[in-house]
Amino acid sequence: MADRDGKIWMDGQLVDWRDAKIHVLTHTLHYGCGAFEGVRAYKTEQGPAIFRLEDHTKRLFNSAKILRMQIPFTQEAVNQAQVEVVRANKLESCYLRPLTWIGDRKLGVSPKGNTIHLMVAAWAWGAYLGEEGMQRGIRVKISSFTRHHVNITMSQAKAVSNYTNSILANTEALDDGYDEAILLDASGFVSEGSGENIFVIKDGVVYTPDLSAGALNGITRNTVMHICKDLGLEVVQKRITRDELYIADEVFFTGTAAEVTPIREVDRIEIGAGSRGPLTEKIQQAFFDIVNGRNPKYAHWLTRV
Ligand code: PMP
Repeated sequence: MADRDGKIWMDGQLVDWRDAKIHVLTHTLHYGCGAFEGVRAYKTEQGPAIFRLEDHTKRLFNSAKILRMQIPFTQEAVNQAQVEVVRANKLESCYLRPLTWIGDRKLGVSPKGNTIHLMVAAWAWGAYLGEEGMQRGIRVKISSFTRHHVNITMSQAKAVSNYTNSILANTEALDDGYDEAILLDASGFVSEGSGENIFVIKDGVVYTPDLSAGALNGITRNTVMHICKDLGLEVVQKRITRDELYIADEVFFTGTAAEVTPIREVDRIEIGAGSRGPLTEKIQQAFFDIVNGRNPKYAHWLTRV
């Protein structure tokens, strides 16, 4: 990805994509303490708009706070950086990746005395789990890897280090012929996907794991909760067991990258009719209406570029 035209915002300046480099002795590269965001900008009738920009930036600053990293920019500056990156790269719709990391001033586990950096990159990125998956649903397996316990790497931080666990689960799932993994928490209850929150529908009620299962407090998860309310669907946050997935009517993933992705099979067991469920489809449609600027109720979630 390094060899491209375009601009990346790095520590306060737009630099050429190819020049956005860091040193091999960068602390975060060695010890994994850093935080990032995944944000999307969508094409709307009024031009590109970043979805829930302020909420993503707030979460990035909260992640840094949890990791005891002091970002040397204001939230407003980081919001503005994201707008500038979409503009500078002339993107109609895209994925944005803000990342904050610890610098190369010194090594050793302690980051004290080191510098904190921040960058924002953006590029075009279609359906994360495939266009076909959005229509038909994807096939997932319960991972043999456990999601982080809430007192291990801090699950409310979108921390770089949390993603080793995600990579292990996702790689195992792909190697075993599935599209994605679902991780259980340390007590065996459903937590989340490697990069997605999970929802379960049974008898017209929508369930999602409560955050004590170690799942990230997803912004798409929150968006879907608003959508369900608008559709008159009750949402219950609770502990969910693996077999509740097997006998659910519908299951789907949510995430900035994954958007609303139906799940048609778990551990080779068909969910419902084995295709995208009718309520999942409704929620998906409502989601795309909101992000593409077709629902005035949520216009405040869109930041025009
Ligand atoms: N869980 C994990 C582990 C993730 O990486 C993501 C993607 N950020 C999510 C859930 C979904 O969060 P959001 O909807 O805010 O993108």
